[in-house]
Amino acid sequence: MFEDESLSNHTETGSAAKAMGAIVAIIFAAEIIIMSVVASFGRGEVPASIMVLDAVLLVVLTAPFIYVLVLAPLRKEYEMRIAAEREAHDMTQLAITDPLTRIMNRRGITMALLESMAQAERYGTPLSIAMVDIDHFKRINDERGHDVGDTVLASLAGVLTEAVRMPDKVGRYGGEEFLIVLPHTTLAAARQIAGRMCKTVSERKFRHKEQLIEVTISLGLTQFRKGEDLTQLLARVDKALYEAKRGGRNRVVVSKPAAVRTARRSRVSA
Ligand code: GH3
Ligand code: MG
Ligand code: MG
Repeated sequence: MFEDESLSNHTETGSAAKAMGAIVAIIFAAEIIIMSVVASFGRGEVPASIMVLDAVLLVVLTAPFIYVLVLAPLRKEYEMRIAAEREAHDMTQLAITDPLTRIMNRRGITMALLESMAQAERYGTPLSIAMVDIDHFKRINDERGHDVGDTVLASLAGVLTEAVRMPDKVGRYGGEEFLIVLPHTTLAAARQIAGRMCKTVSERKFRHKEQLIEVTISLGLTQFRKGEDLTQLLARVDKALYEAKRGGRNRVVVSKPAAVRTARRSRVSA
C-alpha cells in the first residue's frame, strides 16, 4: 500500500518535471524564433534595448521552472541528508548514553578510554584513569528507597562531571561505579583531582525531595602504561579501588603501573 503510493507520487513528480522541461524548451525555442525575426528586420543586428529586454524576459519566464526543476530538488536532497545525519547522530548518542544520569554509559566511556589509550600510546602522553564507587550504596537503597538511590546516582554524575575539564570524560561504568578518563594527566595531577572529588562528595548533601543524603565515594587511580591493553589497565584500577574499600572507604588509592615505578627508581638511582 505504502509502496504503491510512493511509486505513484514518484511517477507524478516525474511527469510534472517532464512537462516543465517541455515548457522551458518551448520558451527557449520561441525566444530563438523571435530574436531571428527581430534580427532579420534589423539586417542581422538586434538593438541593445531589445537584447536587454529579451534577457530580462528570459530570466523572469524560466526562473520559476529552473527553481522547481533544479534548485528545489537539490535543496530537498540536502535537507534529507542533513536530517538523516542528525538521526544517525542521535541514535549513536542514545546508544552510548545512560538514561538515568545522562552521561556516557559503559560502552561510551569504554570507547572514549580506548581512544585515549591509542593517543597516549602513539604520542607518549600521560593518561590517568579513576574508578569511582559509591560507599555502602546498598544501604541508601535499603533504608531510603530505590528512588533516593537513583537521585544520588544522577546527582553524583553531575558532581563528577563538573569536577573535570575538557578533554576529561566521565561515564557510568556499572550500577554505582563511574569511570573517569583523564588524558594528558599524570598520576600526581590525577591524584589531586581525585582527592578533590572525594572531599567534595563527602562534604556535600544530596537532596531528594525533603531528604538530605550524605554520601562518600572510594576511588581507585592508575596511569596507562605503554603497550598494555584495556583489560590490564582496568584490572589495575579495579585493584586500587578494592584497596580503597579495604582501607576504610571515602579515600583515593593509587596503583602505579610497574613501568612508571621502574622508571622513577632508575631515575633516582642514576
Ligand atoms: P561498597 O561500599 O562495598 O561499594 O558497598 P555497596 O553497598 O555500595 O556495594 P554493593 O555492590 O553491595 O551494592 C551496590 C548497590 O547498587 C546494589 C544495587 O541494587 C545498587 N544499584 C545498582 N544500580 C542501581 C540503580 O540504577 N539505581 C539504584 N537505586 N541502585 C542501584
Ligand atoms: Mg560497586
Ligand atoms: Mg558501592
